[in-house]
Amino acid sequence: MNLFETAARLYERSCAGQIDSGDLDTIIAWPNDDLPVLFGATDMVRRKFHGNRVDPCSLMNVKSGACSEDCAFCAQSSHSDTGVDVTKLADAAAIREKLAYAKSRNLPFCVVSSGRRLTPTQITSICDALNGEDGEKHASLGILDDDAFAQLRDAGVVCYNHNLEASRNFFPTIVSTHRREDRVATVKRAKAAGLKVCCGGIFGIGESWKDRKDFALELRALDVDTVPINFFNPVPGTRIAPPKETPLDFLKIVALFRLALPTKPVKVCGGRELHLGGLQALMFHAGANGYVSGGYLTTQGAGIDADDGMIASMGLVKKDLSHFE
Ligand code: SF4
Repeated sequence: MNLFETAARLYERSCAGQIDSGDLDTIIAWPNDDLPVLFGATDMVRRKFHGNRVDPCSLMNVKSGACSEDCAFCAQSSHSDTGVDVTKLADAAAIREKLAYAKSRNLPFCVVSSGRRLTPTQITSICDALNGEDGEKHASLGILDDDAFAQLRDAGVVCYNHNLEASRNFFPTIVSTHRREDRVATVKRAKAAGLKVCCGGIFGIGESWKDRKDFALELRALDVDTVPINFFNPVPGTRIAPPKETPLDFLKIVALFRLALPTKPVKVCGGRELHLGGLQALMFHAGANGYVSGGYLTTQGAGIDADDGMIASMGLVKKDLSHFE
């Protein structure tokens, strides 16, 4: 079978939800020079299930730094000497202002905090700030319990981000202060509370292609709703060597997740500009249909105007958020 026939077969199997471990091995072995052929399949799968709509989101770091956890890739970990800003919880006015701005740019808004989890008092503050405000509201506030998820849901939060970060096998090599099972349980609690879950990870942190394959299959089994893909940004002071992956390697990771999870939004988040540079728009051909716009938790991005220009040049449009009024 030649590459075109193989790409067509992967397209068919992906659309039918039949991509298996062997298919993922085929993608992993795909020569980077021939990726445009594979992108024919991933782009068509994206368009079949997501049309020309893209699903970006915007973040607000509502409490930065000084995290007790030791995630080796994270600039906000107190175990890393990164000099990141340490801030207390943002006040309601600041959160509402950012939410209103995100809505004005037709972007969902996600409140994100460092830390293993926010306290019940802090959760109440966040919910009071969001409650009754227009806009699509998401949250990423750590390992929360059922009461906290019910509060967030009742405050109008519709999606909870909680990344598993890496495969079951690789996770213990990057985090030791909490278990991956704690994160899986958190994802299940958020789903049980009726929230959608945004759950993915970070790449270029020393994981193998087998780890990436296992991770894609684990996320599919968990039936997450959205898959964010971060490329490691080696902020000085973090405790992992800079990625050795090329932009094409990172794009192949996107293709792997797109074909394994054809119906799910796949979003390219942190490290997009740094690692894809002039090849950013290729992420859509690789199968991505989302991204973080407007900057990250501790680093800048290209900006909403630049992102809007990029998708316009690709003939893509942001999903309509008018129903969140
Ligand atoms: S990823 Fe989250 S839990 Fe881990 S160190 Fe960073 S802020 Fe803390």
